[in-house]
Amino acid sequence: TRPLVQVRDLRMHFPIYAGLLRRRVGAVKAVDGVSFDILPGETLGLVGESGCGKSTTGRAVLRLYDITEGSIRIEGTEIGHMSQSQLRPLRPRMQMVFQDPQASLDARMTVEAIIREPLDEHTRLSSREKREKVLELMDAVGLNRRFASRYPHAFSGGQRQRIGIARALALNPKFVVCDEPIAALDVSIQAQVVNLLEDLQAKFGLTYLFISHDLSMVRHIATRVAVMYLGRIVEMQDRERLYADPLHPYTRALLSAVNEPDPALARSRGRIVLRGDVPSPANPPRGCNFCTRCPEVMPVCRDIDPETRQVAPGRWVACHLHDPAIMGRERTRPPEA
Ligand code: SF4
Ligand code: MG
Repeated sequence: TRPLVQVRDLRMHFPIYAGLLRRRVGAVKAVDGVSFDILPGETLGLVGESGCGKSTTGRAVLRLYDITEGSIRIEGTEIGHMSQSQLRPLRPRMQMVFQDPQASLDARMTVEAIIREPLDEHTRLSSREKREKVLELMDAVGLNRRFASRYPHAFSGGQRQRIGIARALALNPKFVVCDEPIAALDVSIQAQVVNLLEDLQAKFGLTYLFISHDLSMVRHIATRVAVMYLGRIVEMQDRERLYADPLHPYTRALLSAVNEPDPALARSRGRIVLRGDVPSPANPPRGCNFCTRCPEVMPVCRDIDPETRQVAPGRWVACHLHDPAIMGRERTRPPEA
C-alpha cells in the first residue's frame, strides 16, 4: 500500500537574531532531518520530551508553517513548498486536534458556529445542510445535540475536546494530527477521549499522527511509534516491538520510567536515570545528538553523527551500537589517550 503521508528530511530551523542590527546569528534547529511514512488507517505515535520538536513536526507536516527544507507528500501530492493559497483546496483533507481545547475554541462562538466554521469556509452547503452536518458531528463525538447553542465555557475540558474533534472532522479529512489531545485533561477523562479517537478512526477511515510526551498513552493508540530527541527521530518501530525490545538508549531510558504491565519485562529493565539536560536545539552537540547524556556513549559518538538506519524490516534506529561497520571499527580502535 502506498503511504498516505510521506515525509522526507524535514527541517524547521528558526533563525536567531541579535544585536541592534538584528543580525542573524544562528538558528534553532527545532526539526532537523525527520523522515517517516504513515500508511492509510494507521496511527503513528510521535513521542518525546517537551521541546524535542514533535509539535513543530506535526504543524510543519500540515504546513501551518513554511518549512525550511524537505519533502511532504499527502496522497502523493507534494505540499512541502506550496503557498498557502495553493494549500487551501487541500486543507479539508488534513486537520489538527489541538492540545488545549480551552485555547483553541473561540469563547464568543456557540458550539454550532465553531463546528460549522470550516463548512462555511470550504463548502457551498446550504444553511440547513450545514446545521444537519453539525448535529451529526455532535452525535459522532458524543455531544448532546441540545447543547448546540451553548458557549464553550459551559462545557468540561473533555467535552470541549470533543467540540475540537468535531470541528476537525467537519470536512471529512483523511489525515488528522492530534497534538497531545489529552495532555490537558483529567486522567479520568483521558481514556474516554482516546477511545473516542479510536472509534472515529474506524468509523471514518482516519489516519493519525498522534503526538504525545506519554509513552504509556501512545502504547494504547499507536500502530507504530517514532521517538524524537533534539529535532531528530532516533527510533521508529512497530508498537509491540518498541515496547518489548527498544533499540535506542534514549528509548530504553524513557521506557524504564513508565509502568511496565509485564512484570518480567519490568524486572529485567530497571530504572535508567539520564544525567544532565537536553542540549539547546540552537547548539546541538557534535556527533550523536544524545552523546552528552547517553549511558552507552563511545568515543566515536562524539565524532560521527549516526544515520537513521533500517536494521531489520520496519526497525529504524539512529545509533552506532546498531551499525556493524562502526562497531567493528570501534572494537579495533586503540584506547583513547
Ligand atoms: Fe549513545 Fe552513541 Fe548510540 Fe548516540 S550513537 S545513542 S551516544 S551509543
Ligand atoms: Mg509540544
